[in-house]
Amino acid sequence: MKYALVTGGSRGIGRAVCQSLAKAGYSVLVNYARNREAAEQTRELILSEGGSAELLPFNVSNKNEVDKALDLWETEHPGEYVSVLVNNAGIREDNLMVFMQDEQWNHVLETNLFGFFYVTRRLLKNMLTKRYGRIINITSLSGLTGMQGQTNYSASKAGLIGATRSLAMEVAPRKVTVNCVAPGFIETDMTSDIDPEQHKGRIPAGRFGKPHEVAAAVLFFAGENASYITGQVLSVNGGLHT
Ligand code: NAP
Repeated sequence: MKYALVTGGSRGIGRAVCQSLAKAGYSVLVNYARNREAAEQTRELILSEGGSAELLPFNVSNKNEVDKALDLWETEHPGEYVSVLVNNAGIREDNLMVFMQDEQWNHVLETNLFGFFYVTRRLLKNMLTKRYGRIINITSLSGLTGMQGQTNYSASKAGLIGATRSLAMEVAPRKVTVNCVAPGFIETDMTSDIDPEQHKGRIPAGRFGKPHEVAAAVLFFAGENASYITGQVLSVNGGLHT
């Protein structure tokens, strides 16, 4: 069995990524932080489509929780390892910099960037030893172009891109690839407070994207055939590049 871990797999983009990896034959570890009911729904969707999935709750920003959950998983699956990691868990807590609270800055950085570090570091050793791995980090248009009110979020997502490029160089000799997918506006809970009517005029495709359209890009990087593609950022934004 090949295993894939998707952080934040309970809802939105993460759920669509879980479903597409399961359809591609992976046994999927569905991570979530709080929303067990949504994570169960993701698992049930996968099972109903003939796939395999298990829940793996932990808070990506808590190093001890990450290590404990993954230690336990490895003990329960001797000889197995996670060969595909999708660092998708993320939050936004927007505010203008002048009003930004320490908690807003820290919470977003700890979840979106430190979470990537804790989970990736924990799983990397096995990928390097087995000489195969795929790491896909979900960044954002905001990390590429910037966005008013999102200095914390943009910093976390731009940080992910820098980390992706450096890590890609470190691990390429061991046949581990590291890439980013950068969504624009996608219809999920995260964007439920944003009115599409206010933005779709500046999106060349004329609409927000769907989670499965982001999952298609993740699946591409996760594939065995994408073996010579690393350190890249693939935008999924309906043509909105500024
Ligand atoms: P979403 O619908 O709000 O779902 C967020 C997911 O992240 C949930 O599964 C949530 O778990 C999980 N999560 C949050 N904090 C976590 C933590 N500390 N530990 C573990 N899991 C945690 O968001 P989405 O729109 O699908 O976004 C997914 C990723 O795409 C994020 O990284 C986001 O920044 C990025 N992105 C989204 C858009 C967009 O337009 N939607 C655009 C660009 C980039 P619970 O269910 O347990 O809360």
